[in-house]
Amino acid sequence: MAKYVYFFGGGKAEGKSEMKNLLGGKGANLAEMANLGLPVPPGFTITTEVCTLYYRNKGKYPAELKKQVEDNLKKTERIMSRAVRGVLLGKKFGDPKDPLLVSVRSGARASMPGMMETILNVGLAPSTIPGLIARTSNPRFVYDAYRRLIMMYSDVVMEKAAGIEPAGEQGIRKQLEAIMHGMKEKKGVKLDTELSADDLKELAGQFKARVLKVLGKPFPDEPMDQLWGSVSAVFQSWNGRRAVEYRRIERIPDEWGTAVTVQTMVFGNTGENSATGVGFTRDPATGRNIFYGEWLPNAQGEDVVAGIRTPLPVNEAGKTAQTKALTSLEKAMPAAYRQLNAIQRRLEKHYRDMLDIEFTIEEGRLFMLQCRVGKRNGVAAVKIAVDMGHEKLIKPEEAVLRVKADALVQCLLPMVDPKAERESKPLAKGLPAGPGGAHGMVVFTADEAARRGKELGEKVILVRTETSPEDVHGMHAAQAILTAKGGMTSHAALVARGWGKCCIVGCSDIAVDMDRKVLKASGKEIPEGAWITLNGTSGTVYEGKLPLVDPDLRHNKDLRQFMKWVDGFRKLGVRTNADTPQDARKALEFGAEGIGLFRTEHMFYGEGADRPLFLLRKMIASSTLEERRKALDELYPFMKADIKATMEAMQGHPVTIRTLDPPLHEFVPKDPARLEELARALGISMDELQKRAEGLHETNPMMGHRGVRLGVTYPEVTEYQVRAILESAAELALDKKVRNVLPEIMIPVTCAKSELDDQKKIIDRVVEEVKAKYKLKKLDYLIGTMIELPRAALTAGQMAETAEFFSFGTNDLTQMTFGFSRDDIGSFVPEYLKKKLLPEDPFQSLDQEGVGQLIRMGIERGRSTRPKLKVGICGEHGGDYESVKFCHRVGMNYVSCSPFRVPIARLAAAHAALEEKKSK
Ligand code: ADP
Ligand code: MG
Ligand code: MG
Repeated sequence: MAKYVYFFGGGKAEGKSEMKNLLGGKGANLAEMANLGLPVPPGFTITTEVCTLYYRNKGKYPAELKKQVEDNLKKTERIMSRAVRGVLLGKKFGDPKDPLLVSVRSGARASMPGMMETILNVGLAPSTIPGLIARTSNPRFVYDAYRRLIMMYSDVVMEKAAGIEPAGEQGIRKQLEAIMHGMKEKKGVKLDTELSADDLKELAGQFKARVLKVLGKPFPDEPMDQLWGSVSAVFQSWNGRRAVEYRRIERIPDEWGTAVTVQTMVFGNTGENSATGVGFTRDPATGRNIFYGEWLPNAQGEDVVAGIRTPLPVNEAGKTAQTKALTSLEKAMPAAYRQLNAIQRRLEKHYRDMLDIEFTIEEGRLFMLQCRVGKRNGVAAVKIAVDMGHEKLIKPEEAVLRVKADALVQCLLPMVDPKAERESKPLAKGLPAGPGGAHGMVVFTADEAARRGKELGEKVILVRTETSPEDVHGMHAAQAILTAKGGMTSHAALVARGWGKCCIVGCSDIAVDMDRKVLKASGKEIPEGAWITLNGTSGTVYEGKLPLVDPDLRHNKDLRQFMKWVDGFRKLGVRTNADTPQDARKALEFGAEGIGLFRTEHMFYGEGADRPLFLLRKMIASSTLEERRKALDELYPFMKADIKATMEAMQGHPVTIRTLDPPLHEFVPKDPARLEELARALGISMDELQKRAEGLHETNPMMGHRGVRLGVTYPEVTEYQVRAILESAAELALDKKVRNVLPEIMIPVTCAKSELDDQKKIIDRVVEEVKAKYKLKKLDYLIGTMIELPRAALTAGQMAETAEFFSFGTNDLTQMTFGFSRDDIGSFVPEYLKKKLLPEDPFQSLDQEGVGQLIRMGIERGRSTRPKLKVGICGEHGGDYESVKFCHRVGMNYVSCSPFRVPIARLAAAHAALEEKKSK
């Protein structure tokens, strides 16, 4: 018979932490904790397989399930009967004298915080209430639990799972909250905890009446009906709108399904001697090695994360400027805290990772309700990995594998310019839930954030009193999230942390006026659309748009240590694509070991390019060799200065310089004033200039007169460029400014060895001239080629006879292999992705299956001619995590990417090497 239900409790369990696929993360870890002998309330988990069958069979369960659930319920009851100080009390589910209450909890393989449903206090009904009151002598607690059950059950089971459209504007939950609010007003109290037993009893009656009226069905009085209703609702929540949305963003497969855990209730809401809380074994925002958490006295489960009351710090070490006046659990319940602290330490050692835990204290007794590997931001991920490495909890190898590319990206996030910050007065302070800096325009609804952020591409910051799982799409589209309420474990904080998004929560200095669409803070009113700036690392909010700056690796010693480990494991070299000395220096700081692509044409773009661009245009519009040489003579000093400065900045690391690549028409001015200036400089009429410009026009310039073809038709263009490169190298060597100068001259867009030979003749000639000019015996340089046309890859064996190195230009190679124009894919590729005709945009992540074959073949054939052939990649893919791993596997010597991607490429290279080692 198939086993659909796994038991845990009484110091042992049928499951274990490795069984996440079957039991979900929550169920598997509850089993693990039970096996460790920790105080876990007993219960059982219905497997994810049942979820799959439930959907496959249109909402029907496998026949065996009912009996298995009943058997496990009996087992739970037996343990609970034994548990109470040796006296057999005989707690039973639905028993009028001594009822057992349970929670019905969702839990998928991967954590989906707040996306699915959990129902507490199941089993409370008119038939069991008197018994529980008699057992506990605490009617207030019993009615508090009952009103919570009605709120959760009517919302989750009777409305959401049944697919009932919320009545009017608001769902049943909101209506019941309003009734409760009315009751509090009538009694003149502020907190839920101030309502008396009678108040709560009356409230429960009002709730039930409203449920019947709005949903047209009575609230179930039968404990068993409640149990099965809850189980189905949890399964249905797997396909709820927000869960589906979240899975899409996180790329969690729909087939995984959720498990359902049914667990004996323990109560944090029986009075001041009870409490509930959540914690992290290390600070998830900074990675600091302290137990970090939040708690609330006299509260149940979701109160802490829901942000209804402001949670308190769990211990003294975790207090901040904002929370220093609050009472910690450490002070309020020292014995329970000590036990909790010991358990969290033990769990961390056991799992060898930072954990996120949930606990409840019932009348001074501690119970563990959940543990899982905790989400953390990138900065914390690196620090925790490094610290655990030092603590010998994990090996450096494991530390390196634990940090994902996304986490590293977060460490390289922009931050608010510290200078600008010092000069600005904060608007408000809150909890730093997601690090980094962000600025954007204030929006107040998730839909508006999605509209302006995603559709219009604007920078927006979503500002809310608190967020709920319904806001996920807007949170994703926003630069950052700011909430007035909620703690470090609130929904907003958890989601932002998962995505590495800048986020500030619990910012009680602000108030959100949704009706007037204004944010109030420091006596000011900030309307929708106004700019604000967040420092998510410190939790500070500023008015206006403060500048953001790039991170500085030198100040993060954990990251430096981490990257040292990374470099120790990787085999692949990492270079950068840089065209300016500034970029080159930035890249060196990020760990680049050379330049894999210096684009000579870059000097004609952007600021300070006016004069060289003008001279280039003169050269382009020249019609004779004399004219062209004259223009090149004038241009020469600029070319040389540009190349020399970057080579000098690279301090003797290899620099690959590519000769002129783009089609020339790109440089022809459009502006009439510019055209006239150019005509004057050349001493020709406007008509003549127009004619020459038209002569440059091409129907398909990307496949036209460009790359090596320019060098073939205008050999002098190659000549001047090569001279600039070699003279720079000679001068740097002679001035002893740089040792080991090694320029690598790279010819683009080649498709035949003959083209390379043609250019090599020019290069050889210039080499001799430069040697003579500087009286040098020897001049080091390499000649190589881009491999960016399929024919070049196919004839790589011949290309390598002349070329001393290859650099795969995978942008063009992808373009030419697919026949997709990179600049025009916007009109069809989204549809391809939607229909899953392509797994990914091939310009972002290398098409290993197709383009990858050309690369493999090119390397193989090239090296069969020249075994020591140096091979790299210089397309965008050189900084893409998966593509870099591919480059390692096909045996490249290096990848080259933009300076900011250098650390990611280093990490990917290390991961690839470690994975290869593991598979051997
Ligand atoms: P989520 O996945 O959204 O965290 P949980 O299943 O963990 O949902 O439950 C929500 C809240 O209810 C948590 O705070 C949890 O600790 C609490 N809770 C769940 N089961 C029990 C129980 N048996 N006794 C007491 N509290 C519980
Ligand atoms: Mg939980
Ligand atoms: Mg190219």
